[in-house]
Amino acid sequence: MPTILIIEDEIELVRVLRSYLEQANFTVLSAVQGDTGLNLWVNKHPDLVILDLNLPGMDGLDVAREMRRKSDIPIIMVTARVEETDRLIGLELGADDYITKPFSPREVVARVRAVLRRAGLPRAKNNVLRSGSLEIDLDAHTVSREEETIDLTPTEFKLLETLASQPGRVFSRLQLLEESQGDAYEGYERTIDAHIKNLRGKIEPDTKNPYYIETVFGIGYRFVKESKD
Ligand code: CA
Repeated sequence: MPTILIIEDEIELVRVLRSYLEQANFTVLSAVQGDTGLNLWVNKHPDLVILDLNLPGMDGLDVAREMRRKSDIPIIMVTARVEETDRLIGLELGADDYITKPFSPREVVARVRAVLRRAGLPRAKNNVLRSGSLEIDLDAHTVSREEETIDLTPTEFKLLETLASQPGRVFSRLQLLEESQGDAYEGYERTIDAHIKNLRGKIEPDTKNPYYIETVFGIGYRFVKESKD
């Protein structure tokens, strides 16, 4: 789960934000001074910073500048007045979003999610797709079922990755051919069937009654979409 660093000197505000963010499954770090916040940022590598403008120790503006000099970590600036926000935007600090006090913690959580989504971070730390007892590690290019490693050819892996990345979406043979081999010739569409057959032989508990990869008659294949709790 992404780690959020809150740099804010109003203790009560930090407490409320922390509780909402933790409920949303974020890990939360906090600092009440600009300079200690900057140190935490350097040492703990959070995924996003919620940064108050007026801070003891080191001004929020300077903290943001220092972070921007070294990284493109998402920053949400918190200001006490709308006029301050206007001024900050004019300074082109490169903050990803601005929030004016007073705000609802719920709104902050929504903004955090939106900014992280834009930054493409939520999946970055743990790039693993899970379905049933199947685990597909997209970084390591490994697949396992019930903790046992399954050996796949590069084409099989690519096919599985394509299907499992979008559960429930139907892919035509031609699309799968394109995704798994980089090009597609209509005459070779049926080779996909052979790859799928091999893939099923490796990942399906029961190949006569496939669970993970479903055949969509007349079109192609799709990966099982499990209902989330
Ligand atoms: Ca303040």
